[in-house]
Amino acid sequence: MLDTASLAATPWSDLPATERMPVLFVGHGSPMNAIEDNRWRQRWQALGHELLSRAQPPHLILCISAHWLTPGWRLTAMAQPRTIHDFGGFPQALFDQRYPAPGDPSAARFISQSVLQPGSSLPLALDEGEWGLDHGAWSILKPMFPAADIPVILLSMDDSRPATEHFAIGRQLAPLRERGVLIVGSGNVVHNLRTMRRDAADNQAYDWAIEFDRVTAEHIAQKRLPSLCDFQQLGAVAQMAHPSWEHYLPLLYAAGAVSEDDEPSFFNEGFQGASISMRSVMWR
Ligand code: ZN
Repeated sequence: MLDTASLAATPWSDLPATERMPVLFVGHGSPMNAIEDNRWRQRWQALGHELLSRAQPPHLILCISAHWLTPGWRLTAMAQPRTIHDFGGFPQALFDQRYPAPGDPSAARFISQSVLQPGSSLPLALDEGEWGLDHGAWSILKPMFPAADIPVILLSMDDSRPATEHFAIGRQLAPLRERGVLIVGSGNVVHNLRTMRRDAADNQAYDWAIEFDRVTAEHIAQKRLPSLCDFQQLGAVAQMAHPSWEHYLPLLYAAGAVSEDDEPSFFNEGFQGASISMRSVMWR
């Protein structure tokens, strides 16, 4: 478990303690949001500007993306993570995108040693060459931080594990916020590609999508964050909102890293294609 004493004895001991960083959960939606001048991307641009204007901007970004699933948990630990184009059927302009942000191998080693995998005493594993930055990470980080000069580390998720374990890892990550680390969960509060309707407007959605989005938003607004782990209790509504869980789980990491005195604020409320909620949250 990460604590102040272990932080003091790490390679990070020369990193100054900072004002507590906000925590973000960002709904990323379609990969095209990375390059389309739409309202989602405009909000990401404004948010990045706001974060960079802080007296102490982020030193490091730790991103939990819906698009990196592994057995057990891993951290990217390469000095220069590659840009991964993990999608098909999109215009060449999207495949031409690169996000050349550096990694931070020493910070990755430190975080891996400081966070135990739930259900075992194993540290997080390190990935020194296989992964990189998938579109769950770069499609939102490029609009937010176009200079690509803040190092980025990705944390994978083991989606065979129960929701409470994802939340528990988020809890262990919380102290990093006092060391200038911006924790960003990237997924979607509702995500069903099979039922997408490309002609739907931003304010149109299926009833089950609206219901799941509403219940999730209430838990967040009422600060009932552990209740986010009980999403399957919504039964058929949850099944429709998440035929698989990977876009929901990043929310649990972000929520786990929240302190009691943090206040949530929503942004990018609305839907893409009637079945993808773009609702995003900043806690600070
Ligand atoms: Zn996605």
